[in-house]
Amino acid sequence: MTGHVDVLIVGAGLSGIGAAHHIQSAFPRRTFAVLEARDAIGGTWDLFRYPGVRSDSDMHTLGYRFRPWTQAKSIADGPSILSYIRRTAEDAGIERAIRFGHKVVQASWSTQDSRWTVTAEHKGKPVRITASFLYLCTGYYDYDAGHMPEFPGIEKFGGTVVHPQHWPQDLDYAGKKVVVIGSGATAVTLVPALAADAGHVTMLQRSPTYIASMPGEDKIANRLRRLLGDGRAYAITRWKNVALATLLYQLSRRRPGVMKSLLRKAVQKQLPRGYDVDTHFNPRYQPWDQRLCLAPDGDIFRVIRRGRASVVTDHIKEFTPSGLRLESGATLDADVVVAATGLRLLAFGGMRLIIDGNDVKLPETMAYKGMMLSGVPNLVFTVGYTNASWTLKADLVSEYTVRLLRHMYRNGYTRCVPTNDDPSVTEQPLLDFQAGYVLRAIHEFPKAGSRAPWKLGMSYAHDVVTLRYGKIDDGAMRFARA
Ligand SMILES: Cc1cc2nc3c(=O)[nH]c(=O)nc-3n(C[C@H](O)[C@H](O)[C@H](O)COP(=O)(O)OP(=O)(O)OC[C@H]3O[C@@H](n4cnc5c(N)ncnc54)[C@H](O)[C@@H]3O)c2cc1C
Repeated sequence: MTGHVDVLIVGAGLSGIGAAHHIQSAFPRRTFAVLEARDAIGGTWDLFRYPGVRSDSDMHTLGYRFRPWTQAKSIADGPSILSYIRRTAEDAGIERAIRFGHKVVQASWSTQDSRWTVTAEHKGKPVRITASFLYLCTGYYDYDAGHMPEFPGIEKFGGTVVHPQHWPQDLDYAGKKVVVIGSGATAVTLVPALAADAGHVTMLQRSPTYIASMPGEDKIANRLRRLLGDGRAYAITRWKNVALATLLYQLSRRRPGVMKSLLRKAVQKQLPRGYDVDTHFNPRYQPWDQRLCLAPDGDIFRVIRRGRASVVTDHIKEFTPSGLRLESGATLDADVVVAATGLRLLAFGGMRLIIDGNDVKLPETMAYKGMMLSGVPNLVFTVGYTNASWTLKADLVSEYTVRLLRHMYRNGYTRCVPTNDDPSVTEQPLLDFQAGYVLRAIHEFPKAGSRAPWKLGMSYAHDVVTLRYGKIDDGAMRFARA
């Protein structure tokens, strides 16, 4: 494929389809295309196929602002989310703008031509397309492989080892002993789902995670929908859930002790009398230092209560032919081991960025409003919130991009570059988050700054003000005509 488009979107996941919807609606006369490495729409929600895969935030905020979530379940399963994304693309005719099987490997900006030349691999061959503006929706992790620690003796193990990112669809675990290594959202999702058919499921964790139970269905949302119709009910529920999540997050940051005790009590109530809550469900970190895991309708506690699953908090010493030996000396028999050991973070789908012949070193750039890079012209990217649903930010990034492009088109500008020439702005990590997968790779990412517009906001309400209504020509953003 060759040619030129006004806006080139990379990635056809939740963010890419949302971005395409915003760009197409705002600029029907402009051209755009979407390059997608895989052969399908949906990104995360198409890739992850493990049993029970679901959202761990509510769909009234994980859904697009422009498309009401109308199903009864608020914590939705993966296939429903995938179908929501697909239908959004279908209804808006976005599919015909997507070039599947195009993995972008390089984007090179020429100031003289005021355009990007993007190189993608397609069927093993390089193809090029030029674009006036680049909109990256590549997610935040490596699609090729998840994180897999080096477990001693793994080659001796006689059973099956799987990673949730590449779940074998024919894996038969019925009646078998399954060990799930991990304690993050994936492990917490997998344990109750596997427990339905497995002989027994053991969640093996090095240390506990905060888990909060939440009703799978939002009764208020469903009632509002009946009373007010889909659109109005969705808008109200979205703000209700934003407010509730903000309240809980703020309480966690300001009064961590109170939140810790509330979460502990709620867990204790759902477990059998005398259960060792302190060992297995009392994390060493403060609430929201890492993302809080959700248990819809307390599903994980239910399977523990029923004896279908158990939690072991220990360290792996080695794999044995029949399972695992732990640091404490205990052993765990296993037919199947699931390494729910996380993702490998990857910035911008691993693509190389070049400006006028010089490589962009991402850690030397600073993120402007958490969505553009200092010194990098005509490029926006989507990275969602870590303390709230991803799409809340993704939608705002699109809204801001539309306003930015409109400003450029009206004024005849061909270039916009966020520029930080204030020496008092100090560097901060782009993701201020203590999860292992973040700490392993954050040094490869751009930085955030100590002050607006470089400071990374994690508040939706604040971002609504700055991204939806804030000044476009704010001094830090420099515009130029070719
Ligand atoms: C199992 C799981 C559950 C999650 N649950 C939640 C949740 O409940 N709430 C929440 O807020 N967040 C959740 N997340 C985070 C989640 O990834 C986001 O919510 C959202 O799906 C991200 O959408 P995206 O389109 O930005 O990225 P992705 O879904 O990762 O899609 C990126 C797309 O870009 C394509 N791409 C990447 N690199 C290139 C390249 N170089 N060239 C071309 N195409 C490329 C990929 O193939 C993919 O299709 C979850 C993540 C996982 C892994």
